[in-house]
Amino acid sequence: MQLSHIRRQTTVNKQLPRAGRRRGNITKNIQAVATFLFDRLVFGPVQSRRLGASLGINLLPADSKYCNFDCIYCECGRNAAGSNIKEHPLPARKDVAAALERKLAGMQASGQLPDAITFAGNGEPTIHPDFAGIVDDVIALRNRYAPPSKISVLSNATMLHRPEVAEALGKTDMPVLKLDSAIDATVRLLNHPAKAVPVRKLIARLKAFNGRCVIQTMFLHGTCNGQPVNNMLPEELDAWEKAVSDIRPKQLMIYTIARDTPVNTLYKAPEETLRLIAKRMEKYGIPVQISL
Ligand code: SF4
Repeated sequence: MQLSHIRRQTTVNKQLPRAGRRRGNITKNIQAVATFLFDRLVFGPVQSRRLGASLGINLLPADSKYCNFDCIYCECGRNAAGSNIKEHPLPARKDVAAALERKLAGMQASGQLPDAITFAGNGEPTIHPDFAGIVDDVIALRNRYAPPSKISVLSNATMLHRPEVAEALGKTDMPVLKLDSAIDATVRLLNHPAKAVPVRKLIARLKAFNGRCVIQTMFLHGTCNGQPVNNMLPEELDAWEKAVSDIRPKQLMIYTIARDTPVNTLYKAPEETLRLIAKRMEKYGIPVQISL
Protein backbone atom coordinates (compact mmCIF):
# COMPACT_ATOMS: atom_id res chain seq x y z
CA MET A 1 0.00 0.00 0.00
CA GLN A 2 1.12 3.46 -0.78
CA LEU A 3 2.34 6.06 1.65
CA SER A 4 2.41 9.16 -0.49
CA HIS A 5 5.53 11.22 -0.97
CA ILE A 6 9.24 10.49 -1.16
CA ARG A 7 9.56 7.33 -3.13
CA ARG A 8 12.57 6.49 -5.14
CA GLN A 9 11.71 6.94 -8.79
CA THR A 10 12.59 3.73 -10.57
CA THR A 11 11.02 4.04 -14.02
CA VAL A 12 10.46 7.09 -16.15
CA ASN A 13 9.58 6.14 -19.67
CA LYS A 14 6.32 7.18 -21.27
CA GLN A 15 7.22 5.73 -24.66
CA LEU A 16 8.09 2.10 -24.17
CA PRO A 17 5.17 -0.35 -24.26
CA ARG A 18 5.32 -2.52 -21.16
CA ALA A 19 3.11 -5.35 -22.37
CA GLY A 20 6.07 -7.57 -23.18
CA ARG A 21 7.29 -7.28 -19.61
CA ARG A 22 4.00 -8.16 -17.96
CA ARG A 23 1.96 -11.22 -17.16
CA GLY A 24 -1.71 -11.84 -17.77
CA ASN A 25 -4.22 -10.30 -20.09
CA ILE A 26 -4.81 -7.04 -18.28
CA THR A 27 -1.59 -5.44 -19.34
CA LYS A 28 -2.20 -4.80 -23.00
CA ASN A 29 -2.01 -1.22 -24.15
CA ILE A 30 -0.52 -0.03 -20.91
CA GLN A 31 2.49 2.20 -21.13
CA ALA A 32 5.24 2.75 -18.63
CA VAL A 33 5.19 5.84 -16.48
CA ALA A 34 7.06 6.86 -13.37
CA THR A 35 6.71 4.32 -10.61
CA PHE A 36 7.93 4.69 -7.08
CA LEU A 37 9.33 1.94 -4.94
CA PHE A 38 10.90 1.95 -1.51
CA ASP A 39 14.38 0.51 -1.29
CA ARG A 40 14.54 0.39 2.50
CA LEU A 41 12.85 -1.71 5.13
CA VAL A 42 12.31 1.30 7.40
CA PHE A 43 12.07 4.62 5.62
CA GLY A 44 11.34 8.24 6.33
CA PRO A 45 9.80 9.82 8.24
CA VAL A 46 7.89 11.16 5.26
CA GLN A 47 5.23 13.84 5.33
CA SER A 48 2.07 11.92 4.54
CA ARG A 49 -1.02 13.69 3.26
CA ARG A 50 -3.08 11.61 5.63
CA LEU A 51 -0.90 10.64 8.60
CA GLY A 52 1.49 13.49 9.27
CA ALA A 53 5.22 12.78 9.79
CA SER A 54 5.17 9.05 9.24
CA LEU A 55 7.94 6.51 9.68
CA GLY A 56 7.31 3.79 7.11
CA ILE A 57 7.83 0.04 7.40
CA ASN A 58 8.05 -1.83 4.11
CA LEU A 59 7.37 -5.54 4.66
CA LEU A 60 7.59 -6.18 0.94
CA PRO A 61 10.73 -6.74 -1.12
CA ALA A 62 13.00 -3.74 -1.56
CA ASP A 63 12.77 -2.35 -5.10
CA SER A 64 10.03 -4.77 -6.14
CA LYS A 65 6.25 -4.56 -5.86
CA TYR A 66 4.41 -7.51 -4.32
CA CYS A 67 0.66 -7.25 -3.97
CA ASN A 68 -2.47 -9.36 -4.40
CA PHE A 69 -4.20 -6.35 -5.95
CA ASP A 70 -3.06 -4.70 -9.16
CA CYS A 71 -4.75 -1.31 -8.87
CA ILE A 72 -4.75 0.67 -12.09
CA TYR A 73 -3.66 3.79 -10.16
CA CYS A 74 -0.91 2.16 -8.06
CA GLU A 75 2.13 4.38 -7.59
CA CYS A 76 4.29 1.25 -7.37
CA GLY A 77 3.25 0.46 -10.95
CA ARG A 78 1.31 -2.52 -12.23
CA ASN A 79 2.25 -6.04 -11.14
CA ALA A 80 5.03 -7.12 -13.42
CA ALA A 81 8.10 -9.25 -13.69
CA GLY A 82 9.96 -8.68 -10.45
CA SER A 83 7.09 -9.68 -8.17
CA ASN A 84 8.67 -13.07 -7.56
CA ILE A 85 9.48 -13.41 -3.86
CA LYS A 86 12.01 -16.16 -4.52
CA GLU A 87 14.14 -13.58 -6.28
CA HIS A 88 13.01 -10.71 -4.03
CA PRO A 89 12.45 -12.20 -0.56
CA LEU A 90 10.35 -10.61 2.13
CA PRO A 91 12.30 -9.22 5.10
CA ALA A 92 12.70 -11.47 8.14
CA ARG A 93 10.82 -10.54 11.32
CA LYS A 94 14.03 -10.09 13.31
CA ASP A 95 15.44 -7.74 10.68
CA VAL A 96 12.28 -5.60 10.77
CA ALA A 97 12.54 -5.29 14.55
CA ALA A 98 16.27 -4.50 14.44
CA ALA A 99 15.89 -1.84 11.74
CA LEU A 100 12.97 -0.19 13.51
CA GLU A 101 14.73 -0.21 16.87
CA ARG A 102 17.81 1.45 15.37
CA LYS A 103 15.69 4.14 13.76
CA LEU A 104 13.46 4.83 16.76
CA ALA A 105 16.42 4.95 19.14
CA GLY A 106 18.04 7.58 16.91
CA MET A 107 14.84 9.59 16.65
CA GLN A 108 14.30 9.44 20.39
CA ALA A 109 17.85 10.65 20.99
CA SER A 110 17.28 13.63 18.68
CA GLY A 111 13.88 14.37 20.20
CA GLN A 112 12.08 14.02 16.86
CA LEU A 113 9.52 11.29 17.21
CA PRO A 114 7.17 10.56 14.28
CA ASP A 115 3.41 11.19 14.40
CA ALA A 116 2.88 7.72 13.01
CA ILE A 117 4.67 4.44 12.39
CA THR A 118 3.03 3.10 9.27
CA PHE A 119 3.07 -0.26 7.55
CA ALA A 120 3.17 0.80 3.92
CA GLY A 121 5.55 0.31 1.03
CA ASN A 122 5.86 -1.81 -2.08
CA GLY A 123 2.60 -3.74 -1.85
CA GLU A 124 0.26 -5.31 0.68
CA PRO A 125 1.86 -5.64 4.14
CA THR A 126 -0.58 -8.24 5.50
CA ILE A 127 0.68 -10.77 2.93
CA HIS A 128 3.83 -11.15 5.04
CA PRO A 129 3.55 -14.55 6.77
CA ASP A 130 4.84 -13.05 10.05
CA PHE A 131 2.63 -9.97 9.91
CA ALA A 132 0.96 -10.66 13.27
CA GLY A 133 4.26 -11.21 15.08
CA ILE A 134 5.79 -8.15 13.48
CA VAL A 135 2.84 -6.03 14.65
CA ASP A 136 3.52 -7.24 18.21
CA ASP A 137 7.21 -6.29 17.85
CA VAL A 138 6.34 -2.85 16.48
CA ILE A 139 3.88 -2.19 19.30
CA ALA A 140 6.54 -3.15 21.88
CA LEU A 141 9.16 -0.90 20.22
CA ARG A 142 6.70 1.99 19.91
CA ASN A 143 5.83 1.66 23.60
CA ARG A 144 9.50 1.69 24.50
CA TYR A 145 10.82 4.48 22.27
CA ALA A 146 7.89 6.53 20.99
CA PRO A 147 4.75 6.14 23.11
CA PRO A 148 2.88 9.07 21.50
CA SER A 149 3.31 7.71 17.94
CA LYS A 150 0.29 6.03 16.39
CA ILE A 151 0.72 2.72 14.59
CA SER A 152 -1.07 2.62 11.22
CA VAL A 153 -1.42 -0.05 8.57
CA LEU A 154 -2.36 0.80 5.00
CA SER A 155 -4.01 -2.38 3.76
CA ASN A 156 -6.26 -3.51 0.94
CA ALA A 157 -8.23 -5.64 3.45
CA THR A 158 -7.94 -8.80 1.38
CA MET A 159 -6.37 -10.90 4.15
CA LEU A 160 -9.05 -10.27 6.77
CA HIS A 161 -10.28 -13.85 6.34
CA ARG A 162 -7.18 -14.87 8.31
CA PRO A 163 -8.05 -14.46 11.98
CA GLU A 164 -4.45 -13.67 12.96
CA VAL A 165 -4.33 -10.82 10.42
CA ALA A 166 -7.67 -9.35 11.54
CA GLU A 167 -6.59 -9.62 15.17
CA ALA A 168 -3.22 -7.96 14.50
CA LEU A 169 -4.86 -5.11 12.59
CA GLY A 170 -7.24 -4.65 15.51
CA LYS A 171 -4.28 -4.10 17.85
CA THR A 172 -3.04 -1.12 15.83
CA ASP A 173 -4.24 2.46 16.32
CA MET A 174 -5.21 3.02 12.69
CA PRO A 175 -6.01 0.06 10.46
CA VAL A 176 -6.64 1.99 7.24
CA LEU A 177 -8.54 -0.38 4.95
CA LYS A 178 -9.31 0.04 1.28
CA LEU A 179 -12.83 0.11 -0.15
CA ASP A 180 -12.74 1.75 -3.58
CA SER A 181 -16.18 0.55 -4.61
CA ALA A 182 -19.04 -1.54 -3.25
CA ILE A 183 -19.80 -2.94 -6.72
CA ASP A 184 -17.96 -6.14 -7.64
CA ALA A 185 -17.42 -5.28 -11.30
CA THR A 186 -15.87 -1.93 -10.38
CA VAL A 187 -13.55 -3.54 -7.83
CA ARG A 188 -12.36 -5.92 -10.55
CA LEU A 189 -11.76 -3.00 -12.89
CA LEU A 190 -10.06 -0.68 -10.39
CA ASN A 191 -8.19 -3.11 -8.17
CA HIS A 192 -7.69 -6.24 -10.32
CA PRO A 193 -7.65 -8.60 -7.30
CA ALA A 194 -5.60 -11.78 -7.76
CA LYS A 195 -8.57 -13.61 -6.23
CA ALA A 196 -11.87 -11.78 -6.25
CA VAL A 197 -13.72 -11.73 -2.94
CA PRO A 198 -17.39 -10.69 -3.18
CA VAL A 199 -17.73 -7.18 -1.80
CA ARG A 200 -20.53 -8.27 0.54
CA LYS A 201 -18.04 -10.62 2.27
CA LEU A 202 -15.45 -7.88 2.52
CA ILE A 203 -18.02 -5.50 4.01
CA ALA A 204 -18.97 -8.11 6.62
CA ARG A 205 -15.28 -8.43 7.60
CA LEU A 206 -14.93 -4.67 7.85
CA LYS A 207 -18.06 -4.47 9.98
CA ALA A 208 -16.43 -6.91 12.40
CA PHE A 209 -14.01 -4.12 13.40
CA ASN A 210 -16.98 -2.57 15.23
CA GLY A 211 -16.08 0.97 14.29
CA ARG A 212 -12.34 0.69 15.01
CA CYS A 213 -11.11 0.80 11.42
CA VAL A 214 -10.56 3.65 9.00
CA ILE A 215 -11.90 3.25 5.45
CA GLN A 216 -9.88 4.73 2.59
CA THR A 217 -11.33 5.25 -0.87
CA MET A 218 -9.58 6.43 -4.01
CA PHE A 219 -11.96 8.32 -6.29
CA LEU A 220 -11.08 8.75 -9.95
CA HIS A 221 -12.43 8.52 -13.48
CA GLY A 222 -11.11 7.74 -16.93
CA THR A 223 -10.57 4.60 -18.97
CA CYS A 224 -8.50 1.46 -18.72
CA ASN A 225 -7.89 -0.54 -21.89
CA GLY A 226 -10.75 1.37 -23.49
CA GLN A 227 -13.19 0.52 -20.70
CA PRO A 228 -14.71 3.47 -18.82
CA VAL A 229 -14.01 3.59 -15.10
CA ASN A 230 -15.68 6.03 -12.72
CA ASN A 231 -16.43 5.26 -9.07
CA MET A 232 -18.26 8.57 -8.62
CA LEU A 233 -21.35 7.69 -10.69
CA PRO A 234 -24.65 7.90 -8.79
CA GLU A 235 -25.08 4.12 -8.54
CA GLU A 236 -21.49 3.80 -7.33
CA LEU A 237 -21.90 6.41 -4.62
CA ASP A 238 -25.24 4.93 -3.49
CA ALA A 239 -23.67 1.48 -3.03
CA TRP A 240 -20.53 2.91 -1.41
CA GLU A 241 -22.52 5.06 1.01
CA LYS A 242 -24.62 2.08 2.03
CA ALA A 243 -21.48 -0.02 2.61
CA VAL A 244 -19.72 2.68 4.62
CA SER A 245 -22.80 3.39 6.72
CA ASP A 246 -22.99 -0.36 7.50
CA ILE A 247 -19.31 -0.55 8.40
CA ARG A 248 -19.41 2.63 10.51
CA PRO A 249 -15.64 3.26 10.49
CA LYS A 250 -14.12 5.67 12.98
CA GLN A 251 -12.90 7.77 10.07
CA LEU A 252 -13.14 7.99 6.29
CA MET A 253 -10.18 8.98 4.14
CA ILE A 254 -11.18 9.96 0.63
CA TYR A 255 -8.52 10.94 -1.83
CA THR A 256 -7.66 11.08 -5.47
CA ILE A 257 -4.72 10.71 -7.80
CA ALA A 258 -1.78 12.85 -6.71
CA ARG A 259 0.82 11.98 -9.34
CA ASP A 260 1.51 9.73 -12.34
CA THR A 261 -0.50 6.52 -12.57
CA PRO A 262 0.60 3.41 -14.50
CA VAL A 263 -2.55 3.62 -16.63
CA ASN A 264 -2.18 7.04 -18.17
CA THR A 265 -5.86 7.58 -19.04
CA LEU A 266 -7.01 8.16 -15.47
CA TYR A 267 -8.01 11.53 -14.07
CA LYS A 268 -8.35 13.15 -10.68
CA ALA A 269 -11.70 13.41 -8.96
CA PRO A 270 -12.75 17.06 -8.95
CA GLU A 271 -12.28 18.73 -5.56
CA GLU A 272 -15.91 19.80 -5.59
CA THR A 273 -17.06 16.18 -5.98
CA LEU A 274 -14.91 15.03 -3.05
CA ARG A 275 -16.37 17.81 -0.93
CA LEU A 276 -19.91 16.80 -1.92
CA ILE A 277 -19.14 13.17 -1.02
CA ALA A 278 -17.82 14.29 2.38
CA LYS A 279 -20.94 16.40 2.90
CA ARG A 280 -23.13 13.46 1.98
CA MET A 281 -21.51 11.37 4.73
CA GLU A 282 -22.02 14.02 7.44
CA LYS A 283 -25.36 12.54 8.46
CA TYR A 284 -23.61 9.39 9.71
CA GLY A 285 -21.34 11.34 12.05
CA ILE A 286 -18.21 9.77 10.53
CA PRO A 287 -15.30 12.24 10.30
CA VAL A 288 -14.12 12.54 6.70
CA GLN A 289 -10.58 13.54 5.70
CA ILE A 290 -10.13 14.69 2.10
CA SER A 291 -6.68 14.51 0.47
CA LEU A 292 -6.33 16.25 -2.86
S1 SF4 B 1 -3.45 -2.38 -2.94
FE1 SF4 B 1 -3.40 -1.39 -4.92
S2 SF4 B 1 -2.49 0.61 -4.54
FE2 SF4 B 1 -1.99 -0.67 -2.80
S3 SF4 B 1 0.01 -1.57 -3.32
FE3 SF4 B 1 -1.56 -3.03 -3.98
S4 SF4 B 1 -1.88 -2.55 -6.12
FE4 SF4 B 1 -0.83 -0.78 -5.19
